[in-house]
Amino acid sequence: MSAPLRLRLDAAALTDNWRALDRMSGAAACGAAVKANGYGLGARGVVERLAGAGCRDFFVATWAEAAALGDLGVGVSVLHGVREEDMPTARSGVARPVLNTVTQIARWREADGGRCDVMVDTGMNRLGISVEEVGQGLLDGLEIDTLMSHLACADEDSPANARQCAALQGLRGRTGAKRLSLANSAGIALGADYAFDLTRPGLALYGGVPRGELAGMVRHVVTPEAQILQRRTLASGESIGYNALYTATAPTEVAILNIGYADGYWRGFSNAGAARVGDAVLPVLGRVSMDLTAICVDAAPELAEGDWVAIDYALPHAASLSGMSQYELLTGLGARAERIWA
Ligand SMILES: *Cc1c(COP(=O)(O)O)cnc(C)c1O
Repeated sequence: MSAPLRLRLDAAALTDNWRALDRMSGAAACGAAVKANGYGLGARGVVERLAGAGCRDFFVATWAEAAALGDLGVGVSVLHGVREEDMPTARSGVARPVLNTVTQIARWREADGGRCDVMVDTGMNRLGISVEEVGQGLLDGLEIDTLMSHLACADEDSPANARQCAALQGLRGRTGAKRLSLANSAGIALGADYAFDLTRPGLALYGGVPRGELAGMVRHVVTPEAQILQRRTLASGESIGYNALYTATAPTEVAILNIGYADGYWRGFSNAGAARVGDAVLPVLGRVSMDLTAICVDAAPELAEGDWVAIDYALPHAASLSGMSQYELLTGLGARAERIWA
């Protein structure tokens, strides 16, 4: 059944973004973070297209996300490591764990789990064993593919970045790891020192711009498109939507769209967002509802019930309009939208 809401996904933009980040990664391999269902786009669709472009290293958060990818012949790492209840799936070989804690390392050793990745904490204090624990031999004898760390402030010019980079550099040659990895999307823009052997961009693949250096090269990937459910004309002085947040000052042509905050079109777009058809800009009127949003179609009065409009969703601008992060704008995109790759 066709949905009244769809996400138009630009496959060429996605693969161009990966190729640009791959070039910026220099001699390092460039992977892809595809957790949270490929940042909302649909993980399998993303992995198929990036694998076709040459990407070989993918990162998910959980074993359910790894299993959902199926066997695409690429390397998959599970960032949250292994709980006891994950061990049957982990041992089946669908992916390798990124071991984060002393307990996870003991569990993996005891099970003779084989190849793994390891997260070391270099100052973010989120996941990972400490640099000191590595020095004490915690990883001795483990079969490690990638020893990684994660930057806390890569989207800012913070002295923490260089400190974290130096801390990981200090571990080179100190473990049996084949590769070191540090940079997310923003980290790639910090320079060659940050690339190590493997980079792990997410956001910028999908059109997000976490640092100014990336602004010129990241292409827009995701455009929500919503169908018009009803047309009406507001008389001057009439208001629209919950809490009557918009009042017409002149007769106003209106279309009611099949999209709302339950689809990830957040309330922050109320009286702020816009849709588009051709060159016509169609501003959001009043409050975004759960399933519906009103727009002004004075600039395209020919629009009728059943017609489609594109929602303005350039991530940096949409984030500043809505007060949401670019990450939230992607991962919030709801299950009701049909994902259409072009
Ligand atoms: C999500 C994530 C990434 C990707 O980060 P972006 O900011 O989206 O590029 C890389 N590494 C780890 C460990 C992550 O959790």
